[in-house]
Amino acid sequence: MEDCLFCKIIRKELPANVVYEDDLIIAFDDINPKAPVHTLVIPKEHFSSLNDITEAQHALMGYILLKIQMIADKKGIAESGYRIVLNTASDAGQDVFHIHFHLLGGRRMTWPPG
Ligand code: 5GP
Ligand code: ZN
Repeated sequence: MEDCLFCKIIRKELPANVVYEDDLIIAFDDINPKAPVHTLVIPKEHFSSLNDITEAQHALMGYILLKIQMIADKKGIAESGYRIVLNTASDAGQDVFHIHFHLLGGRRMTWPPG
């Protein structure tokens, strides 16, 4: 059993505002939102980062993107726009080592990112 913050959320050992859940993934609002909509979408299987993803997960990765599209619609930001962020390792500022897709929206984003 993984001693991992997001695995604990998956196991309901820690509370979270869950916006979507099925057998493969769970989506919950970020505890420290950086935009009016800031939802984290994660696979239930533990992978530390994108660097641990292999060909065996290619369908899972596509599935997550389709569910993000659905959640963006549910959150009302599909038309106004949104950004997906997948921080990987230290230069990107990854803090939690369970792969997670940030879904950000509800405000104008700047480019390039900081
Ligand atoms: P990272 O910097 O690893 O890409 O993003 C980790 C994200 O997880 C951050 O945006 C942070 O606010 C969020 N986070 C950290 N701990 C918790 C928690 O206990 N609950 C929730 N919902 N989000 C968390
Ligand atoms: Zn985990």
